[in-house]
Amino acid sequence: MARKNRDDVASWRVAEPEPVLCPICERVIPDEQKDDHHLVPKSKGGKKTVCLHRICHDQIHATFTVSELAKKFSTIEAILEDPAMQKFVAWVRSKPPGFFDSAKEPRHAHGSGSGRKP
Ligand SMILES: [Zn+2]
Ligand SMILES: [Zn+2]
Repeated sequence: MARKNRDDVASWRVAEPEPVLCPICERVIPDEQKDDHHLVPKSKGGKKTVCLHRICHDQIHATFTVSELAKKFSTIEAILEDPAMQKFVAWVRSKPPGFFDSAKEPRHAHGSGSGRKP
C-alpha cells in the first residue's frame, strides 16, 4: 500500500501566501477544517470571532459551558491556561493539520470493492 500525502501537498500549493494558523494549537488550518469561534458566545452578545480547527473548536465547547466562556474564558490566553485544554493541545499537535476525529461523523462509503478484478 502506497502512502498518500496529497492533502499535505495540496494545502501548501494554494495561492494564499499566508497560511492561517490556529491560535489554540498553532498548526496550519486546512480550508476544510476552518471554523469560527465566538470568543464571547453569540448568545451572550459576542461578535468577535477567531478561526480555529474544527477539532480545537469542538474541544473548547466540550471543555467549557457557554457561561464559562462568557465570564472567564473569552480570550485565547485564558482558554490555554486550562489544564484540560493544555492536555488537548499537546495531543493534537502530534496529529496532521487535517486531522479530525471522524468517529463523530458518518464517513462516506469508501470504495466499492477495491480489490476486485475481472
Ligand atoms: Zn465556538
Ligand atoms: Zn487547532
